[in-house]
Amino acid sequence: MEDFDVIVVGAGPAGIAAGLTAVRNGMKTVVIERGEFPGSKNVMGGVLYTQATAKLVPEFWKEAPLERPVTEQRYAFLHGEDSVSAGYRSPRWAEPPYNAHTVLRAKFDRWLAKKAEAEGVLFITETVVEDLLYKNDGAVIGVRTGRAEGDLLGKVVILAEGVNALIAKKAGLHTQLGPEHVAVAVKEIISLPREKIEDRFQLEQGEGATLELLGDATAGMVGTAFIYTNQDSLSLGIGCLLSEVVKFKANPNDLLERLKAQPLVRKLIQGGETKEYLGHLIPEGGYKAIPKMYRQGVLVVGDTAMLVNGLHREGSNLAITSGIVAGEVAAGAIKSTDVSEQAMSLYQSRLKESFVLKDLYKYRNSAYLFEENPHFFKQYPEMLTKVAHEFFTVDSVPKVDKQKLMWNMVTEMRSKGAIAKDLWKIWRALG
Ligand code: FAD
Repeated sequence: MEDFDVIVVGAGPAGIAAGLTAVRNGMKTVVIERGEFPGSKNVMGGVLYTQATAKLVPEFWKEAPLERPVTEQRYAFLHGEDSVSAGYRSPRWAEPPYNAHTVLRAKFDRWLAKKAEAEGVLFITETVVEDLLYKNDGAVIGVRTGRAEGDLLGKVVILAEGVNALIAKKAGLHTQLGPEHVAVAVKEIISLPREKIEDRFQLEQGEGATLELLGDATAGMVGTAFIYTNQDSLSLGIGCLLSEVVKFKANPNDLLERLKAQPLVRKLIQGGETKEYLGHLIPEGGYKAIPKMYRQGVLVVGDTAMLVNGLHREGSNLAITSGIVAGEVAAGAIKSTDVSEQAMSLYQSRLKESFVLKDLYKYRNSAYLFEENPHFFKQYPEMLTKVAHEFFTVDSVPKVDKQKLMWNMVTEMRSKGAIAKDLWKIWRALG
């Protein structure tokens, strides 16, 4: 039976970051991945944030397979054929140190794993970890894989298996996610010539845009849709809370087709050809749903630990950061020959000092805010487009009457008291 210091389950950004960090700290490390290669099974919108990634591979943008630096972030509220948009654009984001890039995970994860391999991480692919191995006293001593004679011994196991978290569940470090704590996401990669992309999104060469779509984009269900520009393709997707999908008996594929027919979206993707169709879950439970993140000899990172900030569309950066911290804590514990639960708890303390748990704590009530107030995703986008229509329509109605008209429109849809309550709820959850 082969013996390792650190065994990592899963080669997503969290697992690769953990493996690479452990090796850099002198640990004999293996990363086990069920896919054909790292990234082959991975799905993301996908915006990769620069700062967290550069902590792992400084100036990665000089060699990584990236699509476009994100230079503009836009939001559009849809209702029927209408939309209201807002956004922010900065040419500063087109240059180092950048802010974010669009990526295709199959390419990016594979590249990141090659970097880790070059530094000494052993990757075993096409291998499913089935369970942890325990000593008689309950101490974790390795993993059991689906291969014949596939047991591996390790001093610390890092669980980076993503949202399904089967091993973490077996180890009592995760519970079954309720339908209100998980979003179902589907995504298409639509190929389109780069000139068309630049033309339609008003980009120069070497610039990229993200567009988040709310309201009718998800047929009013709690969720969002997105379009991100790649070099010569678009990533188009939609994600809704599973509880809403069940309640409305919605089919994610139908939702995507419906989205593609919306005029704003239709014009952006026109003439494109769907190259890939992908589906995945996103853990959206937030801070209150974070499971126990450690036990003797085990650390839980990335999506397995529910480290996703849905409000800011951040997941990969939390995954990488938690992977780096886990790699460091595992190496420190092994060096001091203490992998007890107490020693492992340093991982959670360190995450509490970082943006990872600080941000999730700040938004600890947001998951419940949206789940309990689905009208935010239906009524307000409708209100916004109706008011905008009235405001921008030039007719012979005096502006003073128009103002009254717009106010009446708003209060007919939702009473003043209900609006005030909504604002208070938003302030309390996000302020
Ligand atoms: P994953 O990337 O899921 O990796 C887990 C790995 O473990 C996989 O390779 C899997 O094959 C492997 N594995 C699982 N079980 C086993 C096992 N038993 N044995 C061996 N291997 C196993 N985040 C952003 O930052 N920006 C975005 O724009 C964004 N958009 C998103 C859009 C969608 C549609 C989705 C689904 C997610 C999005 N996210 C985004 C979130 C982001 O993708 C995740 O937070 C991030 O991928 C988590 O990384 P991870 O390494 O924890 O898990």
